[in-house]
Amino acid sequence: MLHLLLLAALSLLAQVPSFSPALAEHPAMRNAFAEVDARASQIEREWITLTEIPAPSKQEQLRIEYMKKAMARIGLTNIEQDAIGNVWGTLKGTGGGPQLVFAAHMDTVFPLDTQIKVREENGRYHAPSIGDDTGALVALLHAFDILRLQNIRPKGDVMFLATVQEEIGLLGAKFWLEHREQKPDLFVAVDSRLGSVSYGALLIEQYRFLFEGPTMHTLASRGNANASRGAARFILALNDMEMPPSAPGGNPALPVANVGTLGGGTVVNATPGQVFVTVDIRGQQPQTEQLLVEQVKTLAQRAANQERLTLRIENINLIHDYSKALPKDVRLNHPLVQTTLAVTDYLRLNGTNKTLPADSGSDDHNIGVALGIPSIGIGAIIGHAAHSTGESADKASILRGTKYLILLTTALAGWDYRPAPQK
Ligand SMILES: [Zn+2]
Repeated sequence: MLHLLLLAALSLLAQVPSFSPALAEHPAMRNAFAEVDARASQIEREWITLTEIPAPSKQEQLRIEYMKKAMARIGLTNIEQDAIGNVWGTLKGTGGGPQLVFAAHMDTVFPLDTQIKVREENGRYHAPSIGDDTGALVALLHAFDILRLQNIRPKGDVMFLATVQEEIGLLGAKFWLEHREQKPDLFVAVDSRLGSVSYGALLIEQYRFLFEGPTMHTLASRGNANASRGAARFILALNDMEMPPSAPGGNPALPVANVGTLGGGTVVNATPGQVFVTVDIRGQQPQTEQLLVEQVKTLAQRAANQERLTLRIENINLIHDYSKALPKDVRLNHPLVQTTLAVTDYLRLNGTNKTLPADSGSDDHNIGVALGIPSIGIGAIIGHAAHSTGESADKASILRGTKYLILLTTALAGWDYRPAPQK
């Protein structure tokens, strides 16, 4: 009963987003927005600098050092680093508001020896990781800096969390959230396209299928089992498989099963004793995801049987347990989502006043969703071709993104409009 009342109260709150245009029209907020434009070249320079610092997952050290210094520079307090490299600092609130966390990840998918030199062309910056997720780190730094300089003090404490190991299974955010005794009230991952609002978690399962057979000299291989044929059969079967339908109203590109890496064998003149294929399976509905995983495993086993091979299946990533996640309606109607939508629409980030939130997302906020913490995924820049060396981002988008983060911080953590004390 209490539970029902709570739900009713939540959905009532949701009808009245705490965002009011008066917040955006306050003189201090106007000054803050003007300051973003005034320091455009400084923001752009920092975006380039940070992008050119390599930080593959588990090798984020250089960016960790950079972010610690940058957090100190912008006046965050209680700057800390944990055992795996997450770094965070706090913008202390005036009291009485929710504790809000903004997370962006420092790691990239590009190895240390990748050439990273930002190039500008037709209003776009081109470089690996320029968009994912370096732009968000820089936008957050400047948003917090400007909030402090304009003396806009949110009520709740606002934390800036720069995570590690996001690209290999959201491991940094997972470590951080699981180790925090007191969980934050609100968790916002800044890692997707400016204007998008995700309040759910994409289900992700990743497996390595190992086909194993005899190793024999090429001269003895004729007519014998060959692990490469098992892998080949499996890949073709995956390609021909009928996919389960998309979630009603969901992303039509999902569910999906993608072969991302494959390999095996040790020498040219022998059969490979082992050939592996990895499959990344993503969907929006737990039932469909389970069905798809079973289907993929069945196909792998069939391919192995047909070629008289042994099959081993390994889990690549820890699979997040979503049993504690809040129900979809509660997540959607939460003021975190509704207020964020109101701010997004006020700034017309999508050119409309009706941004559609997605019951999806595959960023650090998935961990918050899994733990039952009100969590969303948003973006601060408009990027293209993430995870490829041809990655790029719209140069001007970071200025809109920084303003968005400034306004969103005050809308979510509260701001009591007190005039700035003179100093
Ligand atoms: Zn990312």
